[in-house]
Amino acid sequence: MSMSNLEGLLIKIRDDVSPSKNDLEVLLSKEDKSELKTIFSFADKIRKEFCGDGIFLRGIIEFSNYCVRDCFYCGLNRGNFKLERYRMGKDEVLSSVAFLAGNNIKTVVLQSGDDPNIDVAWLKDIILEIKKRFSMAITLSVGERKFEDYKAWKEAGADRYLLKIETSGKRLYESMHTDMSFDRRIKCLDALRDLGYQVGSGNIIGLPGQTLKTIAEDIIFFKEKDFDMIGIGPFIPHDDSRFSRQKTGEALLTLKVIALTRIVTKNAHIPATTALGSLDKDYRSDGLTCGANVLMPNFTPQPYRKLYEIYPGKRCVDEPVGACNFCMGDMAKSLGRYIDYGRGDSLKERKLSQNV
Ligand code: SF4
Repeated sequence: MSMSNLEGLLIKIRDDVSPSKNDLEVLLSKEDKSELKTIFSFADKIRKEFCGDGIFLRGIIEFSNYCVRDCFYCGLNRGNFKLERYRMGKDEVLSSVAFLAGNNIKTVVLQSGDDPNIDVAWLKDIILEIKKRFSMAITLSVGERKFEDYKAWKEAGADRYLLKIETSGKRLYESMHTDMSFDRRIKCLDALRDLGYQVGSGNIIGLPGQTLKTIAEDIIFFKEKDFDMIGIGPFIPHDDSRFSRQKTGEALLTLKVIALTRIVTKNAHIPATTALGSLDKDYRSDGLTCGANVLMPNFTPQPYRKLYEIYPGKRCVDEPVGACNFCMGDMAKSLGRYIDYGRGDSLKERKLSQNV
């Protein structure tokens, strides 16, 4: 493809209200180095125009690794009896949040497996306490819950919710989540939106059965749902999961998906995920130069951090808490960017009036 045709195609997917699946598939299939450079630098320009040069930090606290699900790609699946399970206490969660606040981070992500023993009132108290003591945004990532639970947490002050779809194809989704319903997942995402959360979703690249066509459909799904945040990471097989013998997802394909998602969605927050930093090398800098604008330092205290093993070889499991913060500052500087210590609320127009 000539460079002007490639640029024309990039402009087309940027401007189309409904980008074509075929155009995205063509772009996802590109392997030529100079063509890839053109795609990545086009995405980087869009990131600069719509999100600026600041890199937002989201401090993660993984407060429970109990899970009732059996997602085929995940090491926390309920059938993994080798894994020692934990649930942090309220005081432990709050002291981790205090540490994170002391590092000047303005978003905490409270994450867990799908753990029904997380009591709605218990988490609500934590949200209220965080809002009373600290000035920060709260993102919840605790899976599928009842509408009333989402509502109670929103009313207590939670700002955002992450619920990844992993693949937007119903059949493919249900083939690797055999006891889950794709329609229910969508209902949860819609309920979160209706309740006024800033909503994040995302996918995994390299899942068995996934094709460039299904990935193109994921990107269109992200655009249609107008998510505030989109997390895109490579598949990394876990020995104690059903996909243990499957191939690791490719870094390059993951970077292409980040770039095309940036071009199509323009101002969604897109992290350079920890999974992208956990492959044969750390590709997070590459992610930040092809569309990503967020990093997620881990503030889960030991001994819990190494037990939150969704996939093996996860970065920074042995680092002291807070060390990621410095490393990310260096990463930003090396790219001529900077860490933005603001809350980093949604950049979507409908949210701007609600942001504090
Ligand atoms: S992906 Fe989430 S819901 Fe699925 S097994 Fe892992 S922790 Fe549980």
